[in-house]
Amino acid sequence: MLKVRKKLVIGNWKMNGCLERNASLLAELRSMSCTERVDVAVCPPYPFISQAKDALTGSAVSVGAQNLSVFKDGAYTGEVSGSMLLDLGCSWVIVGHSERRSVFGESDEVVAAKLALALELGLKPILCVGETLTQREAGEAEAVVQAQLDGALAVVGAALAGDVVVAYEPVWAIGTGRTATPDQAEVMHAFIRSHLELSGVAAQKVKILYGGSVTAANAALLFAKPDIDGALVGGASLVAESFSSICAAAAAI
Ligand code: PEP
Repeated sequence: MLKVRKKLVIGNWKMNGCLERNASLLAELRSMSCTERVDVAVCPPYPFISQAKDALTGSAVSVGAQNLSVFKDGAYTGEVSGSMLLDLGCSWVIVGHSERRSVFGESDEVVAAKLALALELGLKPILCVGETLTQREAGEAEAVVQAQLDGALAVVGAALAGDVVVAYEPVWAIGTGRTATPDQAEVMHAFIRSHLELSGVAAQKVKILYGGSVTAANAALLFAKPDIDGALVGGASLVAESFSSICAAAAAI
């Protein structure tokens, strides 16, 4: 059977942007010509989701959020629920980004609960996993990533896990300019796919994105690897030219 996983490139704007700058970035993304051959989405901060949605309506670029509350609704000041994201037109939500885990103390349990909620609501979750530099240097990269995957699988189960996009994001590569080499990334992606398979997930259909200092200069070599199905892009997604070049590199594979 021919296995074809259409490439997917998602921009994570993190806590960046303002109405004026977003408007010109979104206008450029709207006119990208490669979106027939690659799926593209952007995840702006919450206050800009409607702006992005309006600006991209009628284009092939979809919109997601960077996080969702672990609660469904109610007295949780400052939280944003998954159903609100759906209401705003989000298709995607990032879950368990390393900044959420390290800065905001999100445990594997919280990440798994958010993942389950996203799936229940019909949002497409992007589950982020990845090891720190200390863990990699101690030879623990696979064990750390396996534990993060198992934490999620224990709650959502193998059948639903087939609907999750996984983003392998080595923490040492995020925002540092130090990308994993295509070979280093492929080893981890192949490991993730085989672990999912062994866990009963339909892993051949799961998209596994690489994230960590992806740029227009290194994207093509990463995308050429068989288990790298696209990218979760931070810094480079804030510049239309860089993000468009990354999307074009994915479309060219
Ligand atoms: C990210 O925020 O998920 C990320 C990968 O950031 P950067 O591309 O800037 O390393």
